[in-house]
Amino acid sequence: MTRKEPARSAAARLTLSWRIGLPHWETDDAFGQVLKLLIGRRAVVDEVALFETITHHLYIPLDVYARRMELAAQRLDAFRRAGISSVGINVLCTIGHLNEAWSYMPPLPFQAMVGHDGAVSTSCACPNTAEMRAYVRAKYALVARARPDFIWVDDDIRMHEHGVQWGCYCPTCLALFAKAAGTAFSREELVKAFNEPAAGRLRRLWVEQNVSSIESLLAEVASAVQAVNPRIATGLMTAGPAWTTYSGQAFDRWFTALRATKARPGGGFYDDVQPLRMFHKAIECGRQRVALPEAVADVQYELENFPYQRLKKSTSTIINECSLALAYGLNGVAFNMLGVPTALDDVRPWVDAIPAARPLWEQWVAHAAGLPTAGLWPAWSRHLTARRAVHPGEDWLTSPAAYDIQRPRLLGEIGLPLAADAPGCGTVLSGRIAECFNDEELTAMLSGGVLMDSTALKVLTVRGLGHLTGVRIARELDNGMMERFTADKLNGGAAGSLRDARIEFWGDAKGMADVLEPLAPDVRLLAELEDYFYRPQGACATAYENTLGGRVVVMGYAPWMFLQSVGKRLQLQNVADWISRGRMPVRVDEAVPLVSVVRLSANRRRAAVMLVNAGFDVIRSATVHLRVSGRRARELEVGARPRVRPLTPEKGGSRLILRQLAPWSLRVVLVGD
Ligand SMILES: [Zn+2]
Repeated sequence: MTRKEPARSAAARLTLSWRIGLPHWETDDAFGQVLKLLIGRRAVVDEVALFETITHHLYIPLDVYARRMELAAQRLDAFRRAGISSVGINVLCTIGHLNEAWSYMPPLPFQAMVGHDGAVSTSCACPNTAEMRAYVRAKYALVARARPDFIWVDDDIRMHEHGVQWGCYCPTCLALFAKAAGTAFSREELVKAFNEPAAGRLRRLWVEQNVSSIESLLAEVASAVQAVNPRIATGLMTAGPAWTTYSGQAFDRWFTALRATKARPGGGFYDDVQPLRMFHKAIECGRQRVALPEAVADVQYELENFPYQRLKKSTSTIINECSLALAYGLNGVAFNMLGVPTALDDVRPWVDAIPAARPLWEQWVAHAAGLPTAGLWPAWSRHLTARRAVHPGEDWLTSPAAYDIQRPRLLGEIGLPLAADAPGCGTVLSGRIAECFNDEELTAMLSGGVLMDSTALKVLTVRGLGHLTGVRIARELDNGMMERFTADKLNGGAAGSLRDARIEFWGDAKGMADVLEPLAPDVRLLAELEDYFYRPQGACATAYENTLGGRVVVMGYAPWMFLQSVGKRLQLQNVADWISRGRMPVRVDEAVPLVSVVRLSANRRRAAVMLVNAGFDVIRSATVHLRVSGRRARELEVGARPRVRPLTPEKGGSRLILRQLAPWSLRVVLVGD
């Protein structure tokens, strides 16, 4: 047996966990009701976690907290007696989440977090003072004495958005920074210095201070817990990098400091208003999953219906969103849907929808365990904030769209599989994200397949790597432009058709219509700009195979909006196949809103494919090309028996036709044993 086997088998097991708010266990009456609700649905309850406070305000006097933890111990025992084998406590506040209920909660008796603008948090603490650390140690020791099997540390472990936007600029933190930087700064001086283009070292040191503040706080939590009982497992809930990388997102260091074996990657998806956001959150969770150390085998998605009102979210949404998160490599769900004890009617329909999905989820997790996601990898880095460039007049502590790591998700929305695991089948470089990679990393990307926008081209040109793209920007147009697809064979049947993104309608149209000029004779032109009188303005999409053998496609026209046309979808499918040299794992012929997530072994003999109908029409038929080896597949559907389906062999893999996908429903295709 190898050392890795236990972790792998744990990763293959689905865990369904329930987060239980304080009001549900504070009184015997409420606790009796929630116990009845969950024990009556034992088949979907593997684990429970008790929240230990109701507000997101950090400070609770320790005598109050001690009495609460004595009661928590009794509640955990009651769950154990009812047959739940894994019971724990979810510590909602370690730093504090945001300013809440501060006018009647006891004020913080230690330094509050201070923002870059001098604002002082009313509910959240600076994580670096000795007084705060002593409180945290005492608090977690009390939690550990309640004999939980595990303790979750919630996602207030960050240095941003604590009622103050960017922390912490208190005297303690400024003194720490003076030591690291070798110069003492006042808060005002430091914030000003951050905006100096040449102050890269200061910015990197500041993010490092954020990382190490969290790291040392988590080490204190771990040591306080382990001093009471070293067998208590710990877990860390994280905030995703798409929100910001200001806190440094050093999961390797943070999980190690906490000695954590459980993770809950975070993100926000709360209602049915924009259902595709469930896909965005799933990708964001996938990015965080990839960054976890190997010891973390229990990775739970948080199904969050906050603030828990029934009509905000459909039961089908719950099933789809949890499924997509599992697709991106998580292997459990922490249901956060119990609101206030008087509102169990809000909860029951959601809870009752879950048993039908469990068999599909279990098969997915078991089959896909250990397989990376496959498809195009939208490049990002946890060092984005630390390493980004600051140009004259820019404010480091703002987040322009050029640093939004989520924009390539639009490719996923039109059906191209997106990988969370690098390097995937090709890289997507958007905006100015390339700034946070060194030349060696960028050259490695450019020696494979790359799809990029013209803002990324600008960054590469400045870095002296533009020749590997085959083009440079000749002119930047910002109004009245469309693109027309050329007769290049990558455009297939879309040759000659127009795509109009009406670029001025959506705010700043700069960087929306860049004319690209070839730097080499063999650059292929995929599209040309035209004005509204059909007058050609020059190339705006190009394809080039560079001297390193890399295949690079540059998009100069409205790269991250309105890619949903039939012609653009076809062009981008062909482009993805071309840059990846036919390695994109899945392609669907029909222009239907099928979102696909693929997990694939290196030898392509084992695959798990999830396809979600992200539209409101029935998809009657979808021809799915699978670039895998295999003669047959298992097709799964929620609430139906698995079907064995023969695969039709074809060049590069095989083919399967899926039929009758209801709106917002999903299918799973499993290939291999
Ligand atoms: Zn501070």
